[in-house]
Amino acid sequence: MRSPSELTTVFRSQGMKLTPQRQLLFRLLHGNITHPSADALYLLASAHMPGISLRTVYQTLNDLASMGELQQLALGTGSARFDPNIGAHHHTICQRCGEVRDVYLTGDMPAYVQDLAGFVVDSAAVVLHGTCAQCRAGESTAKSDNRRNNVVYNKENST
Ligand SMILES: [Zn+2]
Ligand SMILES: [Zn+2]
Repeated sequence: MRSPSELTTVFRSQGMKLTPQRQLLFRLLHGNITHPSADALYLLASAHMPGISLRTVYQTLNDLASMGELQQLALGTGSARFDPNIGAHHHTICQRCGEVRDVYLTGDMPAYVQDLAGFVVDSAAVVLHGTCAQCRAGESTAKSDNRRNNVVYNKENST
């Protein structure tokens, strides 16, 4: 996605309406790595500009997506997610906290797929489901607490 000021120029040159609401949405989306849904972006925008309408959010997202400034992703998380990173990449989704992150594959996708039967791949999107480092850290703290208890227990036994 281009910068807010570049987008402003593009929108103007195409005769599209350019309101402060839209400019706020450009700023909130530029460099945004959270892959927001329309609802999530609406909440964020409302905090900056109370009274902004959900319709404006949808309209702006659709315009940016059709201009190729945003990728619209169906990640199986319910509502569509929007991604200003329009380069080829893939995603991880944390099953605990729902965090969506960008990941990159080395090598070409078809190399990993068997039985393509002459099918020619134009594009591929990999979604890796799992648990993020932060959620796993919460888990391992609990585990190491148990281990510490075990050590204490063993010491008491040995004395
Ligand atoms: Zn997580
Ligand atoms: Zn992404």
